[in-house]
Amino acid sequence: MTRIAEVIVDVPLLQTDKPFSYLVPSEFSDMISPGMRVHVPFGRGGRLVQGIVTRVINSLAEADDYSQNLNELKEISELLDVEAVLSEEQLALADEMRHKVFSYKISIFKAMLPNLLNSKYDKLLTKENGESIRWSTLNTKEQLIAMKDFHSGNGAITYVAESKEHRKTEKFVVPNWEALEVYEPTKSSKKRIEFRKILLETDKKLPFAEAVAMASRPIVNLFAENGLIKIEEVEVSRTTNFFSDISSDRAKSLNNEQQEAFNQILRADSEKTFLLEGVTGSGKTEIYLQIIAEALKIGKTSIVLVPEISLTSQIAKRFIARFGEKVALLHSRLSEGERYDEWRRVKSGEAKIVVGTRSAIFAPLQNIGVIIMDEEHDGSYKQESNPRYQAKDIVLWRGKFHHAKVILGSATPSLESRARAERGIYQLLKLEHRANPKAQLAEIKIIDMRQNLSDQSANFSHALLEKISEKLIKHEQIVLLLNRRGYSSFVMCRDCGFVVKCPNCDVALTLHMDTRTLNCHYCGHREVIPQVCPNCQSRKIGYYGSGTQKIEEELNNLLPDVKILRMDVDTTSRKGAHEKILKAFGNGKADILLGTQMIAKGLDFPNVTLVGVINADTSLNLPDFRSSERTFQLLTQVAGRSGRAEKHGEVLIQTFNPEHYAIQLSQRQDYEAFYATEMNFRRALAYPPYWYTVLIVVSHKEEEEVVKRSYEIATMLQRNLTEKAKILGPLAQPVARTHQLYHYQIIVRFRFEERLEDTLNQLLDWTQLVENRDLRVIIDFDPMNF
Ligand code: ADP
Ligand code: ZN
Ligand code: ZN
Repeated sequence: MTRIAEVIVDVPLLQTDKPFSYLVPSEFSDMISPGMRVHVPFGRGGRLVQGIVTRVINSLAEADDYSQNLNELKEISELLDVEAVLSEEQLALADEMRHKVFSYKISIFKAMLPNLLNSKYDKLLTKENGESIRWSTLNTKEQLIAMKDFHSGNGAITYVAESKEHRKTEKFVVPNWEALEVYEPTKSSKKRIEFRKILLETDKKLPFAEAVAMASRPIVNLFAENGLIKIEEVEVSRTTNFFSDISSDRAKSLNNEQQEAFNQILRADSEKTFLLEGVTGSGKTEIYLQIIAEALKIGKTSIVLVPEISLTSQIAKRFIARFGEKVALLHSRLSEGERYDEWRRVKSGEAKIVVGTRSAIFAPLQNIGVIIMDEEHDGSYKQESNPRYQAKDIVLWRGKFHHAKVILGSATPSLESRARAERGIYQLLKLEHRANPKAQLAEIKIIDMRQNLSDQSANFSHALLEKISEKLIKHEQIVLLLNRRGYSSFVMCRDCGFVVKCPNCDVALTLHMDTRTLNCHYCGHREVIPQVCPNCQSRKIGYYGSGTQKIEEELNNLLPDVKILRMDVDTTSRKGAHEKILKAFGNGKADILLGTQMIAKGLDFPNVTLVGVINADTSLNLPDFRSSERTFQLLTQVAGRSGRAEKHGEVLIQTFNPEHYAIQLSQRQDYEAFYATEMNFRRALAYPPYWYTVLIVVSHKEEEEVVKRSYEIATMLQRNLTEKAKILGPLAQPVARTHQLYHYQIIVRFRFEERLEDTLNQLLDWTQLVENRDLRVIIDFDPMNF
């Protein structure tokens, strides 16, 4: 019987969710299933593209799309997997997400898979007896052999190693020691005699690499050809080094507060969502560890999500220390190979606990017992490119699917989550004290920069400089937070006010002293720093503002002997750089850790007794309705880095807005008051969690086209949505041009709008139909930077 597979193809700019129907060749009609990758001929030229099988049907009558005739269908040319790489659960999740994130399904599939499986590497085939074996990246050699046996039921195969996607090592065995002993090389070949001797003298377990090191490869091969030795290939995981040099650790006995929360979680029915609100250092992570241990006991798996960057390395160590190789790490700092190896450890069921950043929520775990989202308020849980998903939505979806418990943890929950707890949708659990009773919460002081500006420095108050010196004398460590990277924000002419801007984007270029260039943070454009103003030829052109590099330089001038480690996007771009900096600081190799917000979270250094916030206003002044919330969260998080052990911790916050409630309340570390105050603002100004926003961004290289299309979209929204939704715009985006494209935006605000989802999906369909292919339309539900 001829079977038909529906395939979603990966073709750039195709912009459709329509599956295409293909005939399944008889040789794998028994094997094919939804979730497998295939190569199919596509378009007029019939070039091969990769796709995902979403459905297998027995006749065209069952197909969604009747437009094709059976005799017009093309055949699938290659089946790339033996086992589906996307599970039924993931396929169902993609269906669901498709209607919520307003981007094409293929982009969702790709987000779910490790990149190696998305790339189009040439697959190697082995042909033996005229029969081809289809190589799959998911297959181990053993699986391939099994597959071959399954097909033909006969003999051995020659297997051609493929190396891009697996790391292999060669294992060396002597199949027959007697044969080796009686082997007599001719007298002329001294090297062979030597090699035979070496082999016989080993303890018969000599690793191949060492033997090869002693003999030349041709000799080794010769021995292999004569059947004296056998070379076997074995796969090695690229991630085994994750588990080295971490000493193991045992469960701590919980304090009363922790025990109470732990009991509530453990005793609750499955499928419940908890909001664990606990001050920094209250022992939330210890609760996660113990809940996961309980899940393991009953054979269930767990996911722990942590924010991007800094948290991962330190927090991952704690999970590995407790659970060893049962942990798989899936975060953005892995190489493609490492990520793929870890993914397969999860897929095969070997790893039971996944610790990772945003996309780890797609980890192919089965039988999930608990999903934890640490620092649940963090902005990095929302993906800012297609598919624009909020990981929390997927946490909740998968929690439901697996009847799992969900724990959202934070010292400063997002207003959305906290409001849901108020309404009983989540169960609120509170930890109000630090787990270590000797580690009191730090004492926080606000420095009014309007009165405290030092004449030595534009960035440091007397108070902060004095405090730093005091700590240096005591050999205690200091964390300084500056929420901005680069040397300074921009270069400006003091005579004519000219600012050097990016030629592609409507933004000022940022000065980078290490490379002595002006860089665009949007498109990566770089140029040399001008000596004279390009506009008026004045020499009074210079830099303004302050970035981490400038602060470092200033600090070096003010305190010449001080050792500073700088941590920002620029110093951590190389792999492992991040861990290196933290390790050095932990070992006391520097007095000051200066960094951007990546140092605010999760770090646990007992010798840090001072945290200085150089300018609390940078995040406060962002044109974003969440700016107060972000500031409160950031200050609370960073304050939590001070005095984590016995030593008394202090925090100095420099600000030009000392009366602002976000700053005042973070000084008192009063989340409850902040929540109440901020909710009043949100209600008054109609922001989440009262009203929600959809941001639609229309882009094209010609402004005229953008304007025309934006108005078409706005009209279409007016027509389709009810009066309950408010439509604002179109108007030019705050940064009106980037990457040589003009951007216009339309904002839809709504409280309850039953026609929203349909309308936005219609808009997505419409964008496929407009003739102008260069038009880009982004639909962003609840945008993060807004
Ligand atoms: P959080 O995740 O809330 O910031 P952690 O779990 O990191 O808190 O705990 C803060 C510190 O207290 C850590 O050093 C941790 O090892 C320690 N700790 C946590 N729970 C306990 C406990 N029950 N007994 C002793 N120490 C604990
Ligand atoms: Zn000028
Ligand atoms: Zn640019």
